[in-house]
Amino acid sequence: MQDDAYLKCINPKCGLEYPILNTRVQCENGHVLDVKYKNKPSEKLKDIFYERRNSKGSIFNESGVWRFRELLNFCQIDTESVDECSKVLVSLDGAEGRQSKPYQMSKAAEFLEMDKEGLWLQPEGYNPSGSFKDNGMATAVTHAKMVGAKKIVCASTGNTSASAGMFAANEGIDCDVYIPAGQIAPGKLSQAYQFGAQIIQVEGNFDDALKQSLDDAKNHNGYTVNSVNPFRIEGQKTIPFRALEYLNWEVPDWIVYPGGALGNTSSCGKALMELYEWGWIKKIPRIAVINSEGASTLSDLYNGKFEDEKLRWNKGNPNTELISRYYDHLDKEGIRPNTRATAIQIGRPANILKGLRSLEFTNGVVTTVTDSEMLDGMSVVGLNGFDCEMASGASVAGIKKLMNENIIKKDDTVVGILTGRQKDAMIPVDYHSNSENTFANPPKN
Ligand SMILES: [Zn+2]
Repeated sequence: MQDDAYLKCINPKCGLEYPILNTRVQCENGHVLDVKYKNKPSEKLKDIFYERRNSKGSIFNESGVWRFRELLNFCQIDTESVDECSKVLVSLDGAEGRQSKPYQMSKAAEFLEMDKEGLWLQPEGYNPSGSFKDNGMATAVTHAKMVGAKKIVCASTGNTSASAGMFAANEGIDCDVYIPAGQIAPGKLSQAYQFGAQIIQVEGNFDDALKQSLDDAKNHNGYTVNSVNPFRIEGQKTIPFRALEYLNWEVPDWIVYPGGALGNTSSCGKALMELYEWGWIKKIPRIAVINSEGASTLSDLYNGKFEDEKLRWNKGNPNTELISRYYDHLDKEGIRPNTRATAIQIGRPANILKGLRSLEFTNGVVTTVTDSEMLDGMSVVGLNGFDCEMASGASVAGIKKLMNENIIKKDDTVVGILTGRQKDAMIPVDYHSNSENTFANPPKN
């Protein structure tokens, strides 16, 4: 097991490698990195993962992340040794990912005019800090501790800060959170304050906050836990692992995600690439990424809406100049990402290249939905007794749009990821106060 894992630049023409105990998020040529494994895990692990659902008192079996620890064993420990797990793996007493699995939601299926059996929605909002971020934070903070970091650093629109703050508090390390000044609803930061994180306000938008947090981490010995960190991506692979496991490893036709920084798109694609390479799955599901209309960088570039060129991974040779020109165009025109779904209000997706790689591998599609469509998606999930935030409504709204365009077929099996729980109380209140909204249930006098 020793020396199985290493870091490798994703650019095939560069391909620089680094040992696992390294805090860089890019190679020296400025390309992002993957965690790679030399050994192929045995497919017999499928039975072991299933058996671990009966945790028998082990928090590492109870955890929806560490239950799959052999598939993300960058720590290179003996995964059966409780002692080694306890020394190395960071966990919130097994709570991360514990409650996450796909559910059938009949009212959402009815809204989408799909068979109930074909639609699965997987709420990640029941993670301890209320979003999917806890999956990747468990692994990133594990790596932070492996390298002896005393402080973790992130830029956040809300969910990342809650998760980072919570893990930092639990591990007794410091946490700095960079936010765009005046752009984040105070309620979305309440968890970070509560967990003792230091909030740092940056003039500008999320993309500016991320840039400053990366600079400060580099210059002041902080450990970055945004999804540019390859160890975040490792933990987020367990979202599709759980979906597939609960479907008895019968691969769905589609996995649908809201698109923000594209960490989820990246991690889902990496998980599928690995499973396919290991022979664990024979078919590759297609990934659909749903941008907000007001923050549609990926959709614009992928669908050729900028300079008439469809941006592709192109076997590791993407047209990065096109991306740069698109960002220049945003700056020049003063176009700022603009949606009430703040979790995906991102103009410069940090993981765009890994996201493109995932889309190429899965023959993926990208589309946009409006704020109003996301709110309907969020609301119909609520009518099934599940709580999700507005950005998660993009998964439901996106499935609807792609079905209307006959891209997703009526009898396809679809897994939609609901990325987080509602943290902005006024969004549903406003929605239901306006009787014009599809699912509105206004108050009576
Ligand atoms: Zn490189």
